[in-house]
Amino acid sequence: MFSYRHAFHAGNHADVLKHAVFVHILRHLNLKPAPYWVVDTHAGAGVYDLASDWAVKNGEFADGLDRLLDGEPVPPLIEDYLDEVQRCNADGIANFYPGSPWLALHSLRERDRLRLFEQHPSEADVLRRNLRSQGRPAQRQVTVYEADGFEGLKALLPPPTRRGVVLIDPSYEDKTDYRRTLNALREGLKRFATGCYAVWYPLVPRREPQELARSLEHLGCGDWLHATLTVRKPAADGHGLHGSGMFVVNPPWTLHAQLQQALPWLRDKLALDERAAWTLTGSQDAAAQAGMTGR
Ligand code: SAM
Repeated sequence: MFSYRHAFHAGNHADVLKHAVFVHILRHLNLKPAPYWVVDTHAGAGVYDLASDWAVKNGEFADGLDRLLDGEPVPPLIEDYLDEVQRCNADGIANFYPGSPWLALHSLRERDRLRLFEQHPSEADVLRRNLRSQGRPAQRQVTVYEADGFEGLKALLPPPTRRGVVLIDPSYEDKTDYRRTLNALREGLKRFATGCYAVWYPLVPRREPQELARSLEHLGCGDWLHATLTVRKPAADGHGLHGSGMFVVNPPWTLHAQLQQALPWLRDKLALDERAAWTLTGSQDAAAQAGMTGR
């Protein structure tokens, strides 16, 4: 069993990108009355106390969420995300950070369902406790599986509602996570081709993330978009993230334009050095490029 605890990283630049995109997808699903499922293959603890020893140890939120809270105007994608952070903090101070289970739970309507996988026993305990503290809807609509999310995903697809989003957000502490992420997406698409899938991955100075990004773009999964946010140059000792990526299959049609506006703003806001950058590509750009080169 690995030692990863998301509490050390809660609210960092990677969470900002991942959760801003996730909130947009959830809000988009809520635009139509038809019920949906949210499957979170790597759920974590659900919500994080930013004053806890773990969160304070690295203080990563200081260079993430905290930098967005200076009262300056923000792009709409970030405004929606900050609204959710605020909803998680009734007293108006960002003491708690909402993880993906919290964001999903608070988006659900009566007929929507949430399925959460968390393999780490103590993290799963904290997740169940955090969900219980949210009250009645959590118990009725949510199932927590203390199990391997890569394995468990297959059995849940397609969801009975034939509408939904799958978040695949491993820690990549185990290098096989890169391969397993790709396989999970490939298998998922065979069962539920119209589903929205959001895959997060870290930008670290290793070949695996680059290979994963390339493989995702060449998976042939129809409509996709791919955003990256880099905040600094890669660390000389190879430790830590210098950025992260989100690959979204069957994204809401509004997401590309929202990211186009938000990413340069995030780059400026979260930059730690002159190497801060962003990218945004999509299946439409790839198709246009293939057309231009005659492929
Ligand atoms: N999705 C969460 C969020 O956005 O708030 C953060 C998840 S964190 C990056 C990854 C989590 O996956 C950790 O809590 C870890 O214990 C758990 N984990 C690791 N391997 C797993 C597996 N194979 N299946 C399910 N959970 C796993």
